[in-house]
Amino acid sequence: MTILKNKDGIWTLDKDDTEIAVKQEIEIFDTTLRDGEQGGVTFKGNSKQKIAGYLATTGVSTIEVGFPSSNLLEFEMVKEIADSVEGPYICGLTTMDFKNIHKTWDALKNNPNPTIHVFTLNIDEASIRAYNADPQEQIKKASEAVSYAKKLMGGKGRVEFSAQNTILALSQSLHSEHLFLQDYIAGIYGGAIKEGADVINIPHTVAKGIEIKIGEAVRYFKMLVEGTDDVMLSFHAHNDFGVSVADTLEAIEQGIRQVEGTWYSLGERAGNTPLEQVIMNLSLKPIYKRHFFTGFDLSKTNAVARLVEKESGIPIPYNAPGIGPNALRHGSGVHSDGDKKGKAIGEYIYLPCTPEDLGWTGNTHQITKLTGVAGVTARLSELGFGFEKKFVKKHIMPVIKSRDITYGDKELRMIGDDFRYPGEEYILFVDYAFNKFANSSVRQAQVELIVDGQKLTGEAFMGKNGPINAVFSAIDDVIGLGVKKPKLVVYEPSNRGRTHSSEAEALVVLSGNGKDIDYNLSEPVWVGRAVDEDTITASAKSYVQALSRFMADMQDS
Ligand SMILES: [Zn+2]
Repeated sequence: MTILKNKDGIWTLDKDDTEIAVKQEIEIFDTTLRDGEQGGVTFKGNSKQKIAGYLATTGVSTIEVGFPSSNLLEFEMVKEIADSVEGPYICGLTTMDFKNIHKTWDALKNNPNPTIHVFTLNIDEASIRAYNADPQEQIKKASEAVSYAKKLMGGKGRVEFSAQNTILALSQSLHSEHLFLQDYIAGIYGGAIKEGADVINIPHTVAKGIEIKIGEAVRYFKMLVEGTDDVMLSFHAHNDFGVSVADTLEAIEQGIRQVEGTWYSLGERAGNTPLEQVIMNLSLKPIYKRHFFTGFDLSKTNAVARLVEKESGIPIPYNAPGIGPNALRHGSGVHSDGDKKGKAIGEYIYLPCTPEDLGWTGNTHQITKLTGVAGVTARLSELGFGFEKKFVKKHIMPVIKSRDITYGDKELRMIGDDFRYPGEEYILFVDYAFNKFANSSVRQAQVELIVDGQKLTGEAFMGKNGPINAVFSAIDDVIGLGVKKPKLVVYEPSNRGRTHSSEAEALVVLSGNGKDIDYNLSEPVWVGRAVDEDTITASAKSYVQALSRFMADMQDS
């Protein structure tokens, strides 16, 4: 796009450039499960299967799931995914060794869209010396490897070819003492294309010593290597200096049609290109949106990120664009107010996009003692509380202002529940006891409750789950909810104070839909909290309080 001064002396955008007849698709190549699994990331159990299964529903074009020839476990895992996940290309990485290529094919061959990804050693000048590599031999090996993979696949799927550190090699090849690299790059990639490679990947393996801009490098690559118009060009970058997204976007403008990366930059060193950031730019920024699109369903952005976080155990950074807990949230005051005024005219003033665009379920305002009544009321309403602003001002604001903390959804729910269920509890806890049977080690828990004004007792045997469990079961025995009983999802006993004589506090959360707790969703949960000198009493009281609130809601509806 060009900015021009027209004949009337007015600055305008050059219209010719903005009218794009056909948008280009940018394919998303997700290597979270392969290149992302380096540098401290290990996916355990069936994590890779779970992630691949979900990714297949999002519109990514290729999922690189592993390196099947590296060990038996990896082989089995890749095969299991290839056998069961359909939709995107399922890709396995391999060296140029025939045995490894064959093994990779064995793992992938049951999938309707397999991709064998053949890679070489680094082809930059220092690496050639370090590995004592012979360029002519490498060129021959690469051509033979691609040809072998193509033959095995018999027309099915794709073969992708990468020579590591190509961007550095391209940069070095412009120096008079390294001109031989021009022949090396042209030979190794040209050979792979001639043998039928479908995708040609240009890796920016390490951001070291690059003297040309990435767009320039891609343009040069296309002039240097024969046949690039007949294949899909791909770009793979690492985020060493934090500009992998910018580099990737620049590469796209020069004809790259496949982007490789991982979720929130998982990977060795500073990680790979963060895919969600590339996708957000292509999907939300008019300058890219006008020209390109991806098949990725943007509204699944946050769901994928959270799944990867859960399975990898690596937390999403607090400020990570689009997906961090703070990404679409701003503080109180001016920005909140601007946002509210914007909403009234259908515009987001202080947010880059709508939370729905990215499937973001977090809260958009940070609740602290500085937050105003409107902000607190709005968030409580999102959490399912129907408090009037007047009520919040009078009763809840004093609680919010009493502590200098950031109130998460968990804290807000607890405060909200205390006000949602005021007055007399439907069920009251009176006491508990343990009975021992004569001549036996069997013990029984007994509880006494007052339900709707009536004194009732319940009993339960104590199994190997211990006394608290037995007391909870005895309480269930009294209430008799059977299958309607909400699921106990949180039980947190804790000690108040620092001495052994301190009081015990217990927190209990029951979930109506039986799912694990997600505090930021407005799904029904009932919270109970109680303090007592005795841990069992505190636990029983908090359980009874949560049940009591549940029963009160059941009677209302
Ligand atoms: Zn890499």
